Formats: sequence, structure tokens, C-alpha cells
Amino acid sequence: MATHYIFITGGVVSSLGKGIIAASIGAILKARKMNITIMKLDPYINVDPGTMNPTQHGEVFVTEDGAETDLDLGHYERFIQNKMTRYNNFTTGSIYSEVLKKERKGDYLGKTIQVIPHITNEIKNRIIKGSKNYELALIEIGGTVGDIESLPFLEAIRQMAVDLGRKNVIYIHLTLVPYLNVTKEIKTKPTQHSVKELLSIGIQPDILICRSAHEVSKNAKEKIALFCNVSEKAVISLKDVNSIYKIPKLLNLQKIDDFICERFNIIAPAANLSEWDQVIYNEENSKNKVTIGIVGKYVELPDAYKSVIEALKHGGLKTKTKIKIKFINSQDVEKKGVSLLHNLNGILVPGGFGNRGILGKIISVRYAREKNIPYFGICLGMQIALIEFAQNVLGMKDANSTEFVPKCKYPIITLIKKWIDKNGKTKIKNKRGNLGGTMKLGSQICILTENSLSKKLYGKNTIKERHRHRYEVNLILLKKIEKYGLLISGRSKNDKLVEIIELLDHPWFIACQFHPEFTSTPICGHPLFIGFIKAAKKNNITI
Ligand code: GLN
Repeated sequence: MATHYIFITGGVVSSLGKGIIAASIGAILKARKMNITIMKLDPYINVDPGTMNPTQHGEVFVTEDGAETDLDLGHYERFIQNKMTRYNNFTTGSIYSEVLKKERKGDYLGKTIQVIPHITNEIKNRIIKGSKNYELALIEIGGTVGDIESLPFLEAIRQMAVDLGRKNVIYIHLTLVPYLNVTKEIKTKPTQHSVKELLSIGIQPDILICRSAHEVSKNAKEKIALFCNVSEKAVISLKDVNSIYKIPKLLNLQKIDDFICERFNIIAPAANLSEWDQVIYNEENSKNKVTIGIVGKYVELPDAYKSVIEALKHGGLKTKTKIKIKFINSQDVEKKGVSLLHNLNGILVPGGFGNRGILGKIISVRYAREKNIPYFGICLGMQIALIEFAQNVLGMKDANSTEFVPKCKYPIITLIKKWIDKNGKTKIKNKRGNLGGTMKLGSQICILTENSLSKKLYGKNTIKERHRHRYEVNLILLKKIEKYGLLISGRSKNDKLVEIIELLDHPWFIACQFHPEFTSTPICGHPLFIGFIKAAKKNNITI
């Protein structure tokens, strides 16, 4: 099957939401029953985002097959509901390391290795490999046109139109159309310049998506079409909206999908967007409101918790509840105390790494446990819950994780050196090895405990959830803890490690070693997030 390609570039400024737009176009095409995939090409030199600071780059999204990827892949999964894989995201760094590996092996037979054709060929190969067996592939190019870094990617996608035939390729360019408050008008010049920049590297866009604070009028569309050499119906206005889930409908109303189908000569049924209409309806008809406190250390950049935020919102969509999120820096809890946790319907401690702010998280979990506030711990949030329980319920004052106190007396969380991976293979961890690539990553099977709340929420015995951590619960110390009203409600199938814990004598206290936020979607939600929001709704704040 010949794949059709849609390449999406961005211009004028960064952060225009290219990922969400790619995902939204994907959602419409999926609703037209097309077999599609989406890829993200990142121009930075890091081999993957795994070791990048979340406050700079946002969350690291983990795929089912265990790849650490750009957060845009989270949008793709939430919008098109296909599972992404390690082939859906690659960086300049990974391209170069592959080319250099081949060069060392002598694969290039002594040739001079150059950006064109060696780097561009590798990029094209990866695009083709990732899109194999799909009718249509949407390829998002990270960065902004004009950046030095993205040039090899743009050159590669330019070549693809020559290789595959222009009729099999569509270029979409996303630009900003600023609105001048003083003169009360929108300005098309930056879009014209951005298209000129693209043309200078040989790419004529077919569709322009114009992000603007206001609707782009028919007149402005005509002008942009004329100056940028595109058809008028291919100039799409994308005004700011209060929910990202409205974007598929907005694009569909302007017939972007009809344009794509006509251009590729694809006959597909009209898009049935009723599921998205329902999402928007639920969002707009949410009666109750809850405030959830996220106690973390990367709170200055909410993108660091993108999937958690979205999964909470999905929990709200499924229960007709408006979610207000209060970000709380765990170090502030250490300095200012629990008053920061007042007036919350629920407390969530998300994943994280390293020592900073751990005490503030322990204080927050204790507060939730003692004050009967619904608590949801994710990955680090589960490890902290166990540390807090051992310290304050069992009186093991020196209980900790060896990640924070390497020689602690009671290492309730520890680095296990030997473990079984998702394929049943025994893996040995090397403490002194590289930081990249030493984690338990990806989907693993977990068996839920009879009569547990977790099992009730999931409504099944066996689940599959994604992991990203190095440390595990120490099973030797666990035996003691279980007697004090803490239930192990899920264990990994292969090595019986702790996957979920819950407190018996508490309105809602669940913490898991995996990341449920990665599998939540606006259409289906996620059982743990839905359960948490329902419990938060019941928690009438008294403080
Ligand atoms: N730092 C902890 C570990 O490596 C938790 C990781 C996480 O929260 N993703 O096990």
C-alpha cells in the first residue's frame, strides 16, 4: 500500500500548538475511517528526551513499547487513540548516532559522510519505516521554520515529494496571525514571510493554518491565499479556544479533511465526530467543581505534568465535574507548612526523580492520610506514600528510599538489581551505568487483588500499565507493613513486585507504581482518575 504523507511545519513563533493540531487532523481523518499514524521529528541533539529536564522540555511521554518520547505523542494517543511506538518519534541526535554507527562499521564504503544525502536519507528511512502499513501518515516537524536545527528535516521532507510524487504529499504550515489591538485588525505579513522562508528551501505549502486570537475573516483569507500561492479553501482559521478538544470540530467545519481527501484522491466516508461532540458537551455542562492539588517539584512548567493534567480533566469529563488544579511546590510545603494544602478536594503526588522536595511530599501524604482527603500517588507518589506510612504509622523513622538516603536503616524503596522485563527476560541493573536507558520502561501486566478498590474500579482482574522508574518496593520490609491496614492491591505478573497500594481505613487512598495518566483519553477516561475525581467530589472541604 502506498502511504500518503502530510508534513506539518510551524512558522512565525514557536508554541503554536502544532502537536495538538496534528493530533486534531488525525482525529478527523480517523473519524473518516482512515488507517493513519502520526510521527514527531525533533530537531534537538539529545538522543531521546529521557534525560531532559521536565521544566525545560515538559513531560517525557512513555509508549507501550517503552520508548521515552516527546509529550506530543501523548496528544496523538489522546486524539487518535492509536498506540504510539518507538518508531513514532525521533531526534536529530538519534539520526546522527545511527549514521555515525554505520560510518564506524564501514557501511558507507569510505565515502565522505554529509548532511545531504546521508543524514537526510536516514531521516527519510525513519519516516518511511514509521509509516509502513498506514494509508496516511501525519509527520510533525518540531521547531520553527528558519531554525538552523530543523534544516535537515525540512530538506528531507522536500526530497520526499520528489521521491514519491508531489501528488502523494501535502505540506501544512501553521502560522501566527497577530491581532493588533490599537488598530483592531489582524496582520498577515508574518505569515507571508514565513511562507517565503519555506519557499526558499523549496517547500510550497498546500494548506495554511492561521492561529489567531480572532477569526481570520474571508477577506484576510483571500489575501493570504493570493500572497502565499495557496487555494483559498486551504487557508484555515484557527482562533483561540477554551478547550483543545474543540479543535477537531473547528477544523472539520472548515473542511480541511475534504481538501486532504480530494488532494490525495481518497474516497472516505464523512467524519462522524459525535464522540468529540459528547466530550465538548460534557465539558460545557459540568456542574460540580473540585480543586485538586498537585504536589510536585516541576510545578513552574505545567507541561511537565501534561498527561496527569489531561487525565484529571478526563476524569472530570466522565463525571461532569470541572477540575481546578492547584500546583503546589513541595519545597514550599516544607517551608510554609500544610496551610498550602487547605481547601483541596483531593491531593495528587505525581512522578519525579531526585532528592529535592521529598520532605514536602511526605508531609502532604501524611496530611491527606490523616485528614481523610482523597489521595492519588503516581510512581514517586506511591513510593512516598509507603515511606510516609512506614515512618509515621509503623514508627520506622529511618524508613526511606535508597534514591534519597542510600544507606538508610529501612530501605522500603530500593534499587533492585535483578528484575524480569515485560518479555519475561531477566535483566541486571548496573548502578554505575549511564542514566539514559537504565529504567523499567513500558507496559507490563499487573494482577489485581480480590476485593480491592482498585479491582472494583478497573472492573477486571488483569491490567496493563506503563512504567518509568528505577526503584521498587522492598518486598522484605513490606510483610510488616501489610499488617497495618495497607493493602497491596496489584502486583506485577512476572516478578510479583508491588504495583498498587491502597489504605483500607480511608475514603480514597490509592497509589500506583505505574503511570496511568499515559493511557487516559478524553473519550474513555481512566478508571483510577475517574474514581479519584468521584471521591474528591464527595469530599466536602472542611478546612
Ligand atoms: N524516582 C523514582 C524511581 O526512579 C520514581 C520515578 C517516577 O516517579 N517516574 O523509581
